[in-house]
Amino acid sequence: MGTLIRIQLFAPNQRQAESAFRAAFDRIHQLDEILSDYKPNSELNAICRSAVGQPVKVGDDLFRVLVASQQLAEESGGAFDITLGPVIRLWRSARETRELPDAGALWNAGRRCGYRKLHLNAIDHSVTLDRPDMQLDVGGIAKGFAADEALKVLTGLGIHSALVAASGDLAFSDAPPGKPGWNIGMPDRVLSLSNAAVSTSGDSEQHLDTNGRRYSHIIDPATNRGLTTGIGVTIIARRAIDADGLATAVSVLGAERGLELVKKHPGATAWIVFPDAGRR
Ligand code: AMP
Ligand code: MG
Repeated sequence: MGTLIRIQLFAPNQRQAESAFRAAFDRIHQLDEILSDYKPNSELNAICRSAVGQPVKVGDDLFRVLVASQQLAEESGGAFDITLGPVIRLWRSARETRELPDAGALWNAGRRCGYRKLHLNAIDHSVTLDRPDMQLDVGGIAKGFAADEALKVLTGLGIHSALVAASGDLAFSDAPPGKPGWNIGMPDRVLSLSNAAVSTSGDSEQHLDTNGRRYSHIIDPATNRGLTTGIGVTIIARRAIDADGLATAVSVLGAERGLELVKKHPGATAWIVFPDAGRR
């Protein structure tokens, strides 16, 4: 998933801590093999080739991520869209070459996208794609899912106080021993939280600066362009899969429509920040 994962946990002894770390990182590695769009043979990339015009059954992990993604796509009016792969790849190369993607190439890539071109069958857990040249990208939701799953492995091993951090996506269980909660930095304060998840989306780490503008790695499907609003979104939710997906979706929707979306998710809270005046 192209990121560093950090796990902090409290265990009765070193041996249990070590085997818990190993099990949690094994689970993350397993999910990376399934969900990565960088690995040609990930299950995600394999269905982009095999599920064209015909249903292909997928494993539980991939299916869960796809269901959550399509739900969020519907709820957000398509602002969250995991079929944006072709456009996302153009912006990824643009960040390397530091040149804006070609308008014609963007337009062509855009025709290969659209969440309605991806179909899920809940009965047999199969996936069908409408076009042969589609590319799925779950970068906006998979890290949250992986954090949830790693935490679940730890809980299953009797480790009840742990934190899994997949860059901006955190999932944590009970408070550290003797503490009221995990200290989690919010844009305006530090909160003490337990048994929750926090995700932050923004343009501070991945962006393209050119022509006096900063283009985020988050794409607005309405324009196929990286966001230039400078918005930063932090979401607290029960599960990191929800926090992660919502943070990306709200970034695209902006404050007003974004908060409408968050209200539909009981238990979710959003912080939205815009950059200092002067930055475009
Ligand atoms: P995050 O850091 O969770 O906000 O995710 C950003 C990543 O999500 C990007 O690097 C892309 O892989 C992917 N992405 C970009 N734009 C969108 C979008 N509109 N909907 C869903 N995923 C997106
Ligand atoms: Mg996200």
